[in-house]
Amino acid sequence: MSRATTSKQAVELPPLRSWDGLFGHEAVCAEVQTMLAQNSLPQVILFEGRDGIGKRKLMAAVLGLMFCEEQRACAVCEGCRAVQHGYHPDVLWIESEATLKVAEAEKVQEHLTVRAQQQAGGRGDRVAVLIDIEELTDQAANRLLKTLEEPPAQSRILLSCSRVSQLLPTIRSRLVRWHVQPPAMAKSLEWLEAKANEEGLQHDPKMLRQALERFGLSPGRALQALREDQALDAESVRRLETLLFKPMDGAHLAEMQELLKAQGWKADHLAQRLELLLNRYYKWSLGLTVPETHPVDFKRIKHWRSILQEVYRAGGSGHNHLNSQMIAEAWTSSRF
Ligand SMILES: [Zn+2]
Repeated sequence: MSRATTSKQAVELPPLRSWDGLFGHEAVCAEVQTMLAQNSLPQVILFEGRDGIGKRKLMAAVLGLMFCEEQRACAVCEGCRAVQHGYHPDVLWIESEATLKVAEAEKVQEHLTVRAQQQAGGRGDRVAVLIDIEELTDQAANRLLKTLEEPPAQSRILLSCSRVSQLLPTIRSRLVRWHVQPPAMAKSLEWLEAKANEEGLQHDPKMLRQALERFGLSPGRALQALREDQALDAESVRRLETLLFKPMDGAHLAEMQELLKAQGWKADHLAQRLELLLNRYYKWSLGLTVPETHPVDFKRIKHWRSILQEVYRAGGSGHNHLNSQMIAEAWTSSRF
């Protein structure tokens, strides 16, 4: 309700339910447009398909097609803007982090019937959108079932689900199921590359393709995986760098050991890190960069390099896992 008032203010709120950037589902949108024109769009539709392939944006676009003043989801008319910013009075959008509860299923019935009375003689449908209905409590499912069995006139219900097997068979049988396919590989790669560039994520074509394949060609899940991998890595790298410049006592060695083990880092990883630190040190000493939050100590880097040489000598290869005993031995026997 508060959005209805704030939306008129000069400060523009970011759209809640934008279909901006939707890709790979042009054929479905065209089909919906045709069905709306022919008045043949099913009253209750389940959009089923993997996580992260664009179901939510697709459903927003379907609303856009329904309420756009030009029937083309133009994204600029008042109807489209009301949908995108969440203040369209005919739209109820339910999406919760947790399981959908019976109160929410009741809201659907109320929205569709109350609006039906208010709009008697008016034009346009009332629509309820429920995102991820696999997360329904049994009571909520039973309550929703009643609405699905007899949806009020001039109302529509759009549902989405990634794991249809979790739905009650009674619910499944009430729905027209539209299987949403992931976008084509080439389009997803293009999108993923643009996103990775935008967010400053490391990537190469092979890495992007592998991420897509790992998640059944779902671009959203692939992007999430890239973010998670690199967030974890960046944080661990920071911890490692901090440890490298701390006094090398038992506690710090144990902490480093734990970190190396958790990350599966080997001697080569540490060597690479030290080279990067050394580069940073040179740049800093030449006045090309500002000092880091933790000091890059040239002597300490050299010390670590000699330790690594010891580790290589002892293990014979950079592919060895490092362990704190090896490091401690090298540390105490090194010349510094
Ligand atoms: Zn429009």
